[in-house]
Amino acid sequence: MQKVAVVTGGMGGLGEAICIKLAALGYKVVTTYSPSNTNADAWLRAMNDMGYGFKAYPCDVSDFDSAKQCIDQITADLGPVDVLVNNAGITRDMTFKRMSKADWDAVMRTNLDSVFNMTKQVMDGMMERNWGRVINISSVNGQKGAFGQTNYAAAKAGMHGFTKSLALEVAKKGVTVNTISPGYIGTKMVTAIPQEVLDSKILPQVPLGRLGKPEEIAGLVAYLSSNEAAFVTGANISINGGQHMY
Ligand code: NDP
Repeated sequence: MQKVAVVTGGMGGLGEAICIKLAALGYKVVTTYSPSNTNADAWLRAMNDMGYGFKAYPCDVSDFDSAKQCIDQITADLGPVDVLVNNAGITRDMTFKRMSKADWDAVMRTNLDSVFNMTKQVMDGMMERNWGRVINISSVNGQKGAFGQTNYAAAKAGMHGFTKSLALEVAKKGVTVNTISPGYIGTKMVTAIPQEVLDSKILPQVPLGRLGKPEEIAGLVAYLSSNEAAFVTGANISINGGQHMY
């Protein structure tokens, strides 16, 4: 039977590539989008015109009740969720001196609380069915820290503790939980960085000397979603052009 894969933030730069890859592998792909996203219908139409057949549901991943409502609806419409990719995220970069409580809270809620909110809705079912995959999209900056990202780096680092702890709890039930830590990937989130900063500060830290491609992250998500990856759990996989060696 076709497995159901839910990708949060599937209309974003990485999320879209992940949705396309999972669809190509035969998953029934569902993306969530922010209730405030006015472009969602147009995105879905364009994708479905290309033959993908994605489904899309509004969900504020930072809100537990919204996450519950969304997953309940997906389950009722399409069946239980087999693969959950916690990909939605935001940045509110600034030095700690300037960072407000609101900037801290927004980033923690969207990047880290969301992982609890979404995973909580699907984990019991995965354990009952003895099969499941949870893949959390973190960041190289959660591993090494980054200037101006105390909020983001803390949230992304928090994912690792979540991943390892939950992986231990559900290992015997055929459910794996893993984190992917991408480096700088050429999506809006990164192309918004001024070119001179990319050239002078970021690319020199990347031994491969380029930004990553969303498809390269999608390929790793596809692997972790597969049966072949059944022995990989509690892992944090770096995919950053070698930047982790700096
Ligand atoms: P985008 O900004 O393109 O996409 C982020 C997605 O998150 C959007 O689709 C957005 O949905 C969704 N989102 C934001 N807030 C909420 C919310 N409250 N509820 C539901 N959805 C929400 O970013 P990327 O594709 O570049 O990043 C994807 C993930 O990868 C993020 O977690 C990011 O931190 C991580 N990452 C990215 C890197 C990069 O270089 N690009 C590097 C390392 C990690 P909508 O469009 O509907 O508003």
